[in-house]
Amino acid sequence: MHIVIIGNGIAGITAARHIRKLSDHRITVISKETDHFFSRTALMYVYMGHLRYEHTKPYEDWFWDKNRIELIRGTVEKIDFDQKTLHLSADSRVVKHQPTLLEKLTKTVFPTIQTPQTLPTELKYDKLIIATGSVPRWADEYPRELAGVQGLYSFQDLELLEKNTQNVQKAVIVGGGLIGVEMAEMLHSRGIHVTMLVREASYWNNVLPHEESALIGQHIRRHGIDLRLSTELRTVKGRARVEAIQTKEGEEIACQLVGVTIGVMPNVQFLQNSPLRINRGVVVNEYLETNLPDVYAVGDCVEHQQPREGRKAIEQIWYTGRMMGETVARTICDTRTAYQPGVFFNSAKFFDIEYQTYGDVPAQCPPDVASVYWQHPTKEVALRINYQKENQAVTGFNAFGLRLRHEVCERWLKQHQTIEYVRQHLPEANFDPEFFERYEAQITATL
Ligand SMILES: Cc1cc2nc3c(=O)[nH]c(=O)nc-3n(C[C@H](O)[C@H](O)[C@H](O)COP(=O)(O)OP(=O)(O)OC[C@H]3O[C@@H](n4cnc5c(N)ncnc54)[C@H](O)[C@@H]3O)c2cc1C
Repeated sequence: MHIVIIGNGIAGITAARHIRKLSDHRITVISKETDHFFSRTALMYVYMGHLRYEHTKPYEDWFWDKNRIELIRGTVEKIDFDQKTLHLSADSRVVKHQPTLLEKLTKTVFPTIQTPQTLPTELKYDKLIIATGSVPRWADEYPRELAGVQGLYSFQDLELLEKNTQNVQKAVIVGGGLIGVEMAEMLHSRGIHVTMLVREASYWNNVLPHEESALIGQHIRRHGIDLRLSTELRTVKGRARVEAIQTKEGEEIACQLVGVTIGVMPNVQFLQNSPLRINRGVVVNEYLETNLPDVYAVGDCVEHQQPREGRKAIEQIWYTGRMMGETVARTICDTRTAYQPGVFFNSAKFFDIEYQTYGDVPAQCPPDVASVYWQHPTKEVALRINYQKENQAVTGFNAFGLRLRHEVCERWLKQHQTIEYVRQHLPEANFDPEFFERYEAQITATL
């Protein structure tokens, strides 16, 4: 059986690895972005000089030959679902690993997969996994064709940013989500003055409760970013390249770069006008099956038809892509398995502040939920715990500048432990014993 996977991100690659663990099926992974899987979340560190691109690849280049996972670098332009055939761009090629001298000496060289060097532009599949990720959201006010206006998602975006920020002194970032703040940090690390335009009255306040939103807003400003709240972009000005932007509030800000970070959306454009059911993303059932036989979808590009309680239909995060990849591999290898994402978790970084969230901590607390919040009087450290008023069971945690143990928080949420229990056992959840020893009394007294 030939399994073809479109996309070599975390979702597609996890599916490929697990199918190989469970079977001997022929596996082909296609990507238009890079020859090999890399960690998208580490892209910022490449720009900041902490890592080289090579370091963002979780597997050595010989791994794919060793595991008989065929790689194609190219674009899937169209899919004929009736004929189970993919149409690839003319520039598509088989990715061949050239062993290094060290690999030859240490004999980490594996027989090369017998794939033709030149590819026909049609590829047949028996089962297809769509794992095409996201694309940056865009709006009409942002002229794509003007040099210096760009989003940040792909490796090519990173290369473009490298080129676009040569001799740049001032940048404006539009949108203040997680990618926006990463971009601000990246540009700031190169001495570029950054203005960030955020439509809301408080930073990321559609996700963060008021106190956390204020804390992060202050932190961003403390790092020298000119954070403008309640401010929207009207237009971008420039002839050959960006020269300034104008806000809806009437201000003109000179800049040579505009970063568009107003969110991402499922990358499904090329699948439109086909029998595949697409809404905002590729619609899947709980088994990650689409409406078409032998066609599955995983990762950022997916829209769950019936998301589990407390989960969103589209969740564009790293670990859910990994879980979906693992789940679909089981189904394809004859153990039909439902996707069970469990307790929601996410983590990110706002400059120096690490952020973790578990369970459900909405920006606005619903009437049946109570919330307790502790913030260090002088340091940028905070903890919030939400719980049901009726039975006192905890429903979510937000931690800032403080690392919680994943397995402990997950267990408490699954077991519906009460807020009183959590208060008493809080040290079990912490990763920073020294910190907790010093502040535990304060935290538990406040919570
Ligand atoms: C800068 C940045 C920072 C992030 N930080 C975090 C974080 O801290 N925590 C977190 O949870 N998430 C983070 N994310 C989100 C996370 O990276 C994504 O959720 C995850 O990478 C999605 O994985 P995926 O496998 O679904 O898709 P992707 O990683 O997007 O991979 C899809 C691949 O498919 C390829 N492809 C698409 N269409 C075609 C086609 N027609 N033909 C051939 N190939 C195609 C694409 O080129 C791409 O290589 C971040 C994202 C970005 C951009």
